[in-house]
Amino acid sequence: LVAKRRRGDLGRGYRMSTGSLPTLVDLARKSLLQKESLAIPALEQLPPQMFPPLFEDAFTARLKDTLKALVRIWPFDTLPLGALMKEPQLDILKAVLDGLDMRPTRRCKLRTLDLRSIHGAFWSACVHACPPGLVGRMQPVQHSPRMCARSAVKVMANLCLSDIMPNEFLAYLFQWVKKNPRTVHLCCRKLKISATFLYSIRKLLDLLELGCIQEVNVRSTWHLSTLAKFTFYLGRMSNLQKLCLSHICVSTDSSPEEQEEHISHFTSQFLRLNRLRRLHMRGVSFLQDHLDRVLRCLSAPLEALSITNCVLSEADLVHLSQCPNTDELKHLYLSCVPLTSLRLEPLRVLLETVASTLRTLDFLDCEITDSQLDALLPALSRCSQLTTCCFYGNKFSMETMQGLMRHTGNLNKLRLELYPAPLESYNAQGVIQRARFFELCRDLLGILKEIREPQGVMFSTRPCRNCDKRVLYSMDMPYQCQCPEPA
Ligand SMILES: [Zn+2]
Ligand SMILES: [Zn+2]
Ligand SMILES: [Zn+2]
Repeated sequence: LVAKRRRGDLGRGYRMSTGSLPTLVDLARKSLLQKESLAIPALEQLPPQMFPPLFEDAFTARLKDTLKALVRIWPFDTLPLGALMKEPQLDILKAVLDGLDMRPTRRCKLRTLDLRSIHGAFWSACVHACPPGLVGRMQPVQHSPRMCARSAVKVMANLCLSDIMPNEFLAYLFQWVKKNPRTVHLCCRKLKISATFLYSIRKLLDLLELGCIQEVNVRSTWHLSTLAKFTFYLGRMSNLQKLCLSHICVSTDSSPEEQEEHISHFTSQFLRLNRLRRLHMRGVSFLQDHLDRVLRCLSAPLEALSITNCVLSEADLVHLSQCPNTDELKHLYLSCVPLTSLRLEPLRVLLETVASTLRTLDFLDCEITDSQLDALLPALSRCSQLTTCCFYGNKFSMETMQGLMRHTGNLNKLRLELYPAPLESYNAQGVIQRARFFELCRDLLGILKEIREPQGVMFSTRPCRNCDKRVLYSMDMPYQCQCPEPA
């Protein structure tokens, strides 16, 4: 066997100039993989640098015994398998887990099997030989050491739990984790849930170390009662930084008392989430007149808050502006919250409070009117850190738009500014007059250009009635849909 016979050469090879490396390594790789049964005993003699390229070769050739053997003596802290597998491959997973099941040798340094598609650099850098230092860099990210220390092996995976049975890849992984409760730690930092009912995913949630979860994204429509049940898990996610909820609906067959109880259940768990920095709530119908209940239970300042596709009351806006945990907001999203009939004074107060931190402000489709915006403008012009703002879908006249341009004019960090078509762009029937729209946009952009060099400014009409596309005016370029312009 070439690799065995030339072990000495190989060692010397690594001290030679890098130019001569590929031939030696390639030679060894080739011969090792030609005779799997002969190669396996030789693996123990190889330098660590040889392992990644060999693993890749064995992976591509699906040499399961070699994979198993490589895992058993893997000389790095992490095996970033997810970066190699573009799609879940059950036979590969089986081979790797078998390797982990075998009694590890003294040489084995493997502590983390990473199934996430990150660490691609590990493999690409190792095509011929690991550059020095990569071994060190493959140390796992320091994270809840108490939790992870007691398990011999950590399996990292970002999971998506849905109503349908997990695919055979995940099912096998879950079975394996269940079989080794004391030595294996399934570590999920980002969890997506697209299950409608909790009972279908309970067993899987129970397998997870909840303290490791940093992000939860609930993507299916839940009844308030389901959310209340989920809080049993939520409250134990002590490292949760980001929570996204979408479409939490209140069913008509539950009494107001029951609803109250569900809301209390949910918000009470917030008190335990003292790492929560990003809270995104889309279509969460119980928020109306209850926003204070949620905000009051936050235990730390939020970095990002989005309340979108919701109905809010004036009292909600007051609570939003008075909550101490919205004082340092960097990102505020209120898209699709109808504001036309509300006094926006509380939002002015909020903008003043967050003036030194706010970077993103999203008022998409809020239907704000002229007089409402006028009240916000002085506060808006003080948000000096703002990089992105969106006012699409609001009802501003040309005069108000001119005022808006002058007030955002001194916000030098703005990179993306999205403004609605002035009301004068539409005719009496509400149909966009494109030539008129482009002309007004040119004027408005002119006001901005007198004050600063705008980076990315777009004006947009309401979506076209035919094709649902918006007519845009981006910097000095018009973009329109292909529909014939109505006379
Ligand atoms: Zn963990
Ligand atoms: Zn419902
Ligand atoms: Zn159209």
